[in-house]
Amino acid sequence: MAIASSSTADSARAWLERLVAFDTTSRNSNLALVEAIESWLDERGVRSMRVANAEGRKANLLFSIGPDVAGGVVLSAHTDVVPIDGQAWSSDPWTLSEREGRLYGRGAADMKGFIAAGLSRVPAMLDARLKRPIHFALSYDEEVGLLGAPSLIEAIASEVSEPGLVIVGEPTGMRIVDRHKGIVGLRTTVIGHEAHSSQTHLGVSANMAAARLATRIGEIADRLARTAPAANGFEPPQTTVTVGLIQGGTAPNILAGRCEFIWDVRATSPAEAQTVIDEVLAYAAELEASMKDRFSECSISTEALSNVPALTGTAGSPACELVSRLCGHADSQAASFVTEAGLFELAGLPTVVCGPGWIAQAHQPDEYIETSQLAASETFMDRLIEELCR
Ligand SMILES: [Zn+2]
Repeated sequence: MAIASSSTADSARAWLERLVAFDTTSRNSNLALVEAIESWLDERGVRSMRVANAEGRKANLLFSIGPDVAGGVVLSAHTDVVPIDGQAWSSDPWTLSEREGRLYGRGAADMKGFIAAGLSRVPAMLDARLKRPIHFALSYDEEVGLLGAPSLIEAIASEVSEPGLVIVGEPTGMRIVDRHKGIVGLRTTVIGHEAHSSQTHLGVSANMAAARLATRIGEIADRLARTAPAANGFEPPQTTVTVGLIQGGTAPNILAGRCEFIWDVRATSPAEAQTVIDEVLAYAAELEASMKDRFSECSISTEALSNVPALTGTAGSPACELVSRLCGHADSQAASFVTEAGLFELAGLPTVVCGPGWIAQAHQPDEYIETSQLAASETFMDRLIEELCR
């Protein structure tokens, strides 16, 4: 099997340099990066498919190498990166630079290193006699709410024979992560009845009602902490719920007519998250009824802003065993960060997270990936090719 050395034009290192040079901060288009990969694939006779967003400014990219049969492996990664705004970098974030065994650049760890390792092995994948295919699923807008992945997953379902495994290459130090919590983000809007703040009997303060609700959320959080499960790999082990943002009222001496707050529930399963949400909504309904008794226009409404599903775990499954052969680590871990993996799992595909670099460097100034981690992900790709030739 042909293995590119670090000096060739299509080595992982060269690809990383090329990918980092595209400023794919989520607010920007990622099309220049997509085009670069498309035309490189084109030269090698690999057909790829874009799945664009509604405005056509961004696109997912899907391509496959190997026979069109079921049981292939999806290599999943996002192409966008977080902003460098306000961060002090020691070198240009868009120019890969090596210092003491580390390659610095925005996205080096999160997660262009994994994409680079995968692309570097495309020629080897083409040369190999793959019995099962390798699919590349590159998404947009992961960092701003996993916006690209759903249409990409639909495209996988309709365009390729059912894969047997999805590997999401977020930085795990090449360890297997098979569980992470999900996040449901919600906005609750409380409408009260304004009056002079000395005349509390003539109005209903939306702020005071929101405070009661927030207090109930705090009580639920405390109860969940008291009854937390034993160590389960998560830090903290229990479902958490908290209010992140509160905005209400217009003046100190007016009973607030409107208050809204944003809260989130982070649970190890969708069912657990729903239990917490239901409890909060039941109390909100009670509160709303008593407010409406006084002024009919009062209301409390809640809408979901985002829903990142949890990854619930595949330890001991064939998928996990295969990835442990590829990465050389048998144990699987829980992650404190969320990924697109939960969406793949929800679509019925066995999914694990395993990629080069460390989450500690992600989103940071002077983000880097160790050259040894990049090399480990190249080895991972080589083993994957061998595995799929069997
Ligand atoms: Zn990421």
